[in-house]
Amino acid sequence: MEDRYHRQKLVNIMGVAWNQDKLMNSTALIAGVGALGCESAKNLALMGLKKLIIIDNDVVELSNLSRQMLFHDQDIGSPKVAAAERNLMEMNPSIEVEKYYESIENIPMEKYQEADIFLSSLDNFEGRRYLNSIAVSLKKPFVDAGTHGFFGHVRVIIPHETPCYECYPPKEKQRVWCSLRRRKPSDLLNELKEYRIKGLTPKIVEELFSRGYKTELDLKYAKLKDLTSIPGVSESLAKKIQEKIAPKLPAILTTNAIIAGIQSQEAIKVLLGFPRTAEMFRYNGITGGLDYLNRERRADCWLCGVGEEAQQINVDSNATVLDLKVQIAQKYAIPDPEIAYKEYFPLGEELRLQDVGAKSGENIFVISKQIATPKTLKLNLLK
Ligand SMILES: [Zn+2]
Repeated sequence: MEDRYHRQKLVNIMGVAWNQDKLMNSTALIAGVGALGCESAKNLALMGLKKLIIIDNDVVELSNLSRQMLFHDQDIGSPKVAAAERNLMEMNPSIEVEKYYESIENIPMEKYQEADIFLSSLDNFEGRRYLNSIAVSLKKPFVDAGTHGFFGHVRVIIPHETPCYECYPPKEKQRVWCSLRRRKPSDLLNELKEYRIKGLTPKIVEELFSRGYKTELDLKYAKLKDLTSIPGVSESLAKKIQEKIAPKLPAILTTNAIIAGIQSQEAIKVLLGFPRTAEMFRYNGITGGLDYLNRERRADCWLCGVGEEAQQINVDSNATVLDLKVQIAQKYAIPDPEIAYKEYFPLGEELRLQDVGAKSGENIFVISKQIATPKTLKLNLLK
């Protein structure tokens, strides 16, 4: 009998045989259907997974068509996920595609639970961090990828086995933007001055600040339609803000195809139990080199670590809640921590921990937009 998957079923290596039935019962969640997401979704669809859950809140633009092969000229202006779904179903009508024209944080947790693996093709640190936090809490494998011109990387995160995203965050991102309440509109104004954005007046900056855009980072990932709803912010000004603060990175189809090829192959290997090569691959398209890293998971990682160091926070017993927030912001590179303790949430910043009766050995909970579920920390009050 003719079989669509005949050739891949012949794969048998190091004692592991290809298990198409297993693949046909597997669901992958793909966050971001851009250049990498298109390629990886196409690969997984053709190889015959049961279902793809695709998430992207963007529409197709002309400049996507040079490298995002699930989209064609007539798709310009339509949600990427709609065009992707149609083309994926044409490529392999036997799979299921479920699409979300949404940000990843608006996806119901059941959908993450339903997936056997996550693939991220996001273009920002915050999104990856958020997805990583879900992967760790649900113990789902997570294959992350990114490119920059001729360069790219893939990370295979098996929670509690390989390092998670927080074990080794990108160095340039370790700078903390502290968006704690004490910030003033003038702090934002000073930060934005260096970008020299024409038409961005102090009055508009004040308005942005009052709407919760307190740091350049808040603006970096703001949605265009949210920015243009602010009085004084025209569409052209909003675009200028985004172009200056979050400039587009160079991207080429060929590098994306290589990196997405590795990403989707690693995903298949995890699903089918093939031996894995590394937890991180780095590709250099100029030298043609591919190198591998196999770093140890960090026991003191604040997200996936299990040691005391990861679960405990040492605080001066006279500390205020603001002191604690600043400490957490710096230690974990979380710009926006809120603290919950027993029935108190949010804890007022002027309060001292003593004032609410907090004692050593008790738990506090850190809430942040960077993580999907609150992080529990055991208080250790230092005399
Ligand atoms: Zn970790």
